[in-house]
Amino acid sequence: MKITDAHMHVGDFPTFGVSLDEDGLAEYMAKNDIETAMVFHQDNAMVQRVIQDIPGAYGLYWANPKMGDPVPELRDYLADPKFRGVKLHPLMDGFHPDDPMVWPIIEVLIEHDLPALIHCGHPIFSLPWSIEELIERYEEAKIILGHMGHGNVIYIDASIKVAERHPNVWLETSGMPMSVKILEAVNKVGSNRVLYGSDGPWHEPKVEQLKVQLAGLDESALEDVMGRSAQRLFLGNNS
Ligand SMILES: [Zn+2]
Repeated sequence: MKITDAHMHVGDFPTFGVSLDEDGLAEYMAKNDIETAMVFHQDNAMVQRVIQDIPGAYGLYWANPKMGDPVPELRDYLADPKFRGVKLHPLMDGFHPDDPMVWPIIEVLIEHDLPALIHCGHPIFSLPWSIEELIERYEEAKIILGHMGHGNVIYIDASIKVAERHPNVWLETSGMPMSVKILEAVNKVGSNRVLYGSDGPWHEPKVEQLKVQLAGLDESALEDVMGRSAQRLFLGNNS
């Protein structure tokens, strides 16, 4: 089965004691059977350098609107076909997902028909209901709830409900511990809107893959979640 990982990091996160060596990405992907990976870090230039020579590696531009208007730089990065969307981390970077600072970022993504992956699952800034305010503002945007609520079943259920209410929402599985909720998400919103992600190297990709594989999906839905849905969403690849 061809695996596309919708949520991967590269580089150092020293505050958290987590890192993946910049030169080790290709090996890490191969070791974990990841054919295609969406990769990000606050240092977008480093990501661009790292993914350039790895055929299956793509970048999401890490946009932090609190560091100034990211739109000019975002446009430059999206001119590189290796960059396939944006990562927003309202929790870490400290902004409300529907802050007016975020709107221009989403408008650029709509122009390019590319998604935003938004960290989802912690108070105060990354709860599903807060992200839903942005989703309601931009029904033509493609929004991925990263971690689909993460480790809290209230937030997980709310994330699935947000995706049920809005057809422009995708759910990404990393860090969300309940296989049964992956099956529920597929049953409620369809396998084309559920994406396997590992959050590697924060989490072990093999563990994250097993979690999806044990969810009880039929073969076709499993192939969607493990790769085909992300291929369509990020790369426009409908095969
Ligand atoms: Zn992550």
